[in-house]
Amino acid sequence: MLQHSFIGRNLLDLVFPNICVVCTRALVRGENILCTNCNYELPRTHFSTHENNPVHQLFWGRIVLNHASAYFHYRKGSSFQKLLHQLKYHGKYEIGIELGRQFGHELLISPHYHTVELIVPVPLHPKKEKERGYNQSLAIAEGISQALKVPTESIIERKIYAETQTKKSRIDRWQNVEEAFHLKHPQKAEGKHLLLVDDVITTGATLEACALSLRNLNDYQLSIAGLAAA
Ligand SMILES: [Zn+2]
Repeated sequence: MLQHSFIGRNLLDLVFPNICVVCTRALVRGENILCTNCNYELPRTHFSTHENNPVHQLFWGRIVLNHASAYFHYRKGSSFQKLLHQLKYHGKYEIGIELGRQFGHELLISPHYHTVELIVPVPLHPKKEKERGYNQSLAIAEGISQALKVPTESIIERKIYAETQTKKSRIDRWQNVEEAFHLKHPQKAEGKHLLLVDDVITTGATLEACALSLRNLNDYQLSIAGLAAA
C-alpha cells in the first residue's frame, strides 16, 4: 500500500510536475516552490544578524524595539516582486509559508530572536481579507513559526479599511492611526517578547500604527520581521 502510493505520487509528478514559480522549470525532489537557482538569486539582506541595520534604524525614535529586520530587498521588476505578487494576488499562500520558513531559519542564527515567544502577523481589515481569501502576513508568520517553533496568533485586528488617508488633515490622520489597530487579546501578549510580521516594509507607518495597539500592556518586548524592505 505504501509502495503503491509512493509510485502513484511519482507518476503524478511526471504528469503534473511542480514548477518553479519564478522560471517555470520543473522542480526536482527537495525543491519547494522555487528551483535552487531562483532561490539562490533572491536578494537577501542578512539584516537579522546586524544590530543597526537600515530597517531597525527606520524605527528609531518611533517605536521601542529589541530588533527589526527584513529578509529580502524589495526591488521593482525583480523575481522577488513576482513571488510577492503571486502570494498577494494569485492565491499562492504556500509561497508565504516557504519564504517565511527560510527567513525563520536565518532568525534562528541571529542572536536577537532567541527570546521571541509569540509571532503576530500584521492583520488585514476583515473586508480585505475576505476579498483576498487570506492574510499573506499570516502565511509568512506561519513559516517563521515552523522554523522558530514558536506559536503564531492573530491577536491584533485592523479597524480601518483605507490604507492611505492623503486627503485628510494631519490630526484626522493621527486619530486614524491611533484607532487603526486594536489588540483583541492583551492577556496573550502581556509579559512576552512579540515578533510582529509584515510582508513589505516601506515607510514603517503600518507597523508603527500596529505597535501602538500594544501601548496599554504593562510589560512586553517587541521585534519586527518584514519579509522584504523597499
Ligand atoms: Zn526557477
